Amino acid sequence: MNKEYNDDEYEKVCYLCKRSESKAGKMMMMPGNICVCSDCMQKTFDTVSNTDFSKLNMGGFPGMNVFTQMFGDTSKPEEENQNKEAAVTIEKGEESKEEKEKEEKDKKQNGNGVNGFPNIGFLNLADFPGMPGRQKVKRRPKGEKTEPLIDINKIPAPHKIKEKLDEYVIGQEQAKKTISVAVYNHYKRIARQSQIGDIEIEKSNMLMIGPTGCGKTYLVKTLAKLLDVPLAIADATSLTEAGYIGDDIESVVSKLLAAAENDVDRAEVGIIFIDEIDKLARKRNTTTRDINGEAVQQGLLKVLEGSEVEVPVGANSKNAMVPLTTINTKNILFICGGAFPDLDEVIKRRLNTESSIGFKADLKDKYDNQDVLSKVTVEDIRNFGMIPEFIGRLPIIFTLQELTRNMMVEVLKEPKNAILKQYQKLLELDEVKLEFDEGAMEAVAEKALEKKTGARALRAVLEEYMLDIMYEIPKDDNIGKVTITRDYIEKKGGPVIELRG
Ligand code: ADP
Repeated sequence: MNKEYNDDEYEKVCYLCKRSESKAGKMMMMPGNICVCSDCMQKTFDTVSNTDFSKLNMGGFPGMNVFTQMFGDTSKPEEENQNKEAAVTIEKGEESKEEKEKEEKDKKQNGNGVNGFPNIGFLNLADFPGMPGRQKVKRRPKGEKTEPLIDINKIPAPHKIKEKLDEYVIGQEQAKKTISVAVYNHYKRIARQSQIGDIEIEKSNMLMIGPTGCGKTYLVKTLAKLLDVPLAIADATSLTEAGYIGDDIESVVSKLLAAAENDVDRAEVGIIFIDEIDKLARKRNTTTRDINGEAVQQGLLKVLEGSEVEVPVGANSKNAMVPLTTINTKNILFICGGAFPDLDEVIKRRLNTESSIGFKADLKDKYDNQDVLSKVTVEDIRNFGMIPEFIGRLPIIFTLQELTRNMMVEVLKEPKNAILKQYQKLLELDEVKLEFDEGAMEAVAEKALEKKTGARALRAVLEEYMLDIMYEIPKDDNIGKVTITRDYIEKKGGPVIELRG
């Protein structure tokens, strides 16, 4: 028997009515790891026995005429059936050798003896594409108290969280500080729910604003890894209003369930990151129905706040074949992120209007060359096209800066899993030392900046130069050290190669 099904931590779910074992009672196992509850099994038998098979055109199914022969034609009177049975026996007596051989062959093909029905091959539903691989959700412990998933004593203090983030994420000090405090409060609120009493502490959902490639996704990923909570990353552009082509809003929750390996309890304290949230901004001057802008914002409201969502288990879309489970989003931390292009224009316009009123009039245009993004307010985001109810559910708003050249150089060498460290490790396995001089790193950063995709371009740029190195070095066993210089990056010369010994 399949090992998974022996696992006591999981309960089975009925394939047909989707109820779990605790609700529907003992399950029966069918071929292909499919479980069916006794109610549905009974219903199936009732349906089969009430079906008039003679009216179905079974010509195409080799086994089915035997079915009718065995059980008789239910639409005809009993006598007639008996006559038919007799006729079948006589015919069988007279049938040619060829036919007998054919029948033997059929028997073999159809898995003779499956549940004792000769010639009837049972379909293995699990072979169909789209069938869920795992049809189980994690069992909720009954009665007895278990250790809380988030233990407040184990959640590190905000400064500790930030310290850890510093090891991976370069710069973005304000963002790291804000997110550390927000996460700490969020999990404190969950862990100490019983002590909080009547006061309803609001969820710490966040809105993160920053240009592409400045570390938004990376920050959230690192955070989830540090806290050991499941993380789902969704793209707002693929979301549509329920009923339209695209992923509906609940799919983000089902992604989280998958990330939590179908463990409902773990998923309910996880993090959902929705990227490209600015793409949901209300579209102006359109006459078409807005199925993936404002409508999705509306749809997200309930999920962000906390509601029970029915999600499919082991698949990302609901259909008749997939079991469902309920997830409460009350304790799920939502972080939305987006580049919000031109938001700075919106902010500048507001600041300039404010400063042109009354005494401050002389300050007009003074914000033109400053980091205005950090001065963002809820009003600006509303002017950008997000609906007030939506912004209201993301109480913590913070910004990330575009990476400068120096920050890019740091991204190359400082983080725990920095790209340079990765290359160095790879060459170390061939016992070759790899070094980049400062000039080379700056040149790589400059080239990456030109691409305007933030730190994401660093790897692409570096890959281009490292390809030759990775290709040539293993050819010669005498090479002991390679130093990459600015000249090599600017294609004015080669790397400095030192031989062993
Ligand atoms: P976005 O802001 O568009 O979500 P990402 O977080 O996906 O950008 O960044 C892309 C990659 O660039 C990350 O995988 C990470 O390696 C690197 N990166 C970006 N910003 C930073 C940063 N501040 N510190 C360290 N690495 C970064």
